[in-house]
Amino acid sequence: MRHRIAVIGGGPAGLTFAYVLHRHGHPVTVFERDSAPDARPPGGTLDLHEGMGQLALEKAGLLAEFQTLSRPEGQAMRILDTDGTVLRDWQPRPDERANPEIDRGQLRDLLLGPLDVQWGRGVTEVVPGTRDGVLVRFADGRQETFDLVVGADGAWSRVRPALSSAMPHYTGITSVETSLDDIDTRHPDLARLVGDGSMAVYGVNRSLVAQRNSGGHVKVYARFRAPLDWHTNPDRHLDLDTGMDASLDVADVEAVRSSLLALFDGWAAPILDLLRHGTAFAHRPLYVLPVSHSWAHVPGVTLLGDAAHLMPPLGVGANLAMLEGAELAESVAAAGPGDLDEAVRAFEEQMWARAGKWAEITAAGLERLVSPDPTEAIAIWDQVQPS
Ligand SMILES: Cc1cc2nc3c(=O)[nH]c(=O)nc-3n(C[C@H](O)[C@H](O)[C@H](O)COP(=O)(O)OP(=O)(O)OC[C@H]3O[C@@H](n4cnc5c(N)ncnc54)[C@H](O)[C@@H]3O)c2cc1C
Repeated sequence: MRHRIAVIGGGPAGLTFAYVLHRHGHPVTVFERDSAPDARPPGGTLDLHEGMGQLALEKAGLLAEFQTLSRPEGQAMRILDTDGTVLRDWQPRPDERANPEIDRGQLRDLLLGPLDVQWGRGVTEVVPGTRDGVLVRFADGRQETFDLVVGADGAWSRVRPALSSAMPHYTGITSVETSLDDIDTRHPDLARLVGDGSMAVYGVNRSLVAQRNSGGHVKVYARFRAPLDWHTNPDRHLDLDTGMDASLDVADVEAVRSSLLALFDGWAAPILDLLRHGTAFAHRPLYVLPVSHSWAHVPGVTLLGDAAHLMPPLGVGANLAMLEGAELAESVAAAGPGDLDEAVRAFEEQMWARAGKWAEITAAGLERLVSPDPTEAIAIWDQVQPS
C-alpha cells in the first residue's frame, strides 16, 4: 500500500521534496497557503551551490534546465567603501558554475512542473497520533489524515508546534528592502555600479547590498541594528547616531526613503541613489530559530528547511531546504512498508547535524556583516571568494 504523504508549503523545501518523490513514482500532495503561484512577488535571486541546491536539482533530474535558466555571471561580487571606492571586484571565470543565481520565480516554476499543488489550502494545525494517522486541519475548515506530514511551511510554521515549542526570535538586525526595475535603461550609471552580480557596502552597524535579478531588476537590502519596533514605538530610539524617525509608517514610501537616507548619511551619492530610485519598501526583520534546534521524534510528522532551522539569510537557507527535500524524498521512496518511520528518523538526525553547523556559521556571519567594525565584513568575503 502506498503511503499517504502531504507536504505543507510550496517553497524550495516542499517543492523539491515533492518533485523528487514524484520522480520516484510516489503520489504526493502539496498544500500551499498562497491562492496561486503568482499571488505575491516571489522574492529576490537565489544562488544555488554545487553540493547543495544544485545537487538537489540533480536528484530531481532538473540540473540541465537549471543550467539553461541560471546566471553564472551573477556570481560577480563587488565591495565598495562608503565613499564609493571599489575595495574588491571578483568576477567569475567563464566556466565557473559553483554558485550561479536564479530568480526565485523561475526556480518555483521549474519545480512546480507536474506536481499536484492545492493552492489556497493554508494549514492551521497538525495533530499526530490519531487512529487514522496524522490529522491536518485547514483554514477552510476541512481536515484530512496522512501517514506522513512534511512541514515545509517556513519561518512561522503551523506544523512545527506538533513537534517543538521553539519559536523564531529577533536577531537585533533588521532589513528594509527596495527594488529598481529596468536598471540598464533607466539608470545606466547604477547598472554599472552594481555590475552583473552583487554589490555591497559596509558601514558601522549597517550595510547596503544590491543584487541583480534577471530582466534588469535589482533588489536593494539596507540592513542595520535596531529594536524590533524601531518604526512604530516613539519611546524607542535606534542604537545609532542618526536620528532615524522613530514613528515611521513603512507604507509611506517617501518617509522611509528619507529616513534611510538619514541613516546612511555621508555615504557616496551614487550608492545612495540606489535608495533614491527605489520604488517601494518592505520591512523584513531578521528572525532565527535557536541554533541546533531539534525535537523528540514524533512518528508521521517532520520538518524541512526554514520550518526546521530558520537562520540568517546568508545564501544557505534555500540550498539546505532543497537538499533536505531531495534527501528525505529519496529515503522515503526507498523505505519499505514498515520502514517509513525509521527512514524519517534517520533523515532528521542527519539534517539536525548539518543544519546546526550552518546555523552557527550564519549567526556568526551576520554579526560580522552588520558590525561596529566594517573590516570584519570584508574579511568574510576574502575567506569565501577565490583570490
Ligand atoms: C532577502 C533574502 C535573501 C536570501 N537569499 C538566499 C540565497 O541567496 N540562497 C539561499 O540558499 N537562501 C537564501 N535565503 C533564505 C531562503 O529564502 C530560505 O531559507 C528558503 O526560502 C527556505 O525555504 P522553505 O521552503 O523552507 O521556506 P519558504 O521559502 O518560506 O516557503 C514556505 C512556503 O510555505 C507556505 N506556507 C506558510 N505557511 C503555510 C501554512 N500554514 N499552510 C500552507 N502553506 C504555508 C508559504 O506560502 C511558502 O510558499 C534568503 C532569504 C532572504 C530573506
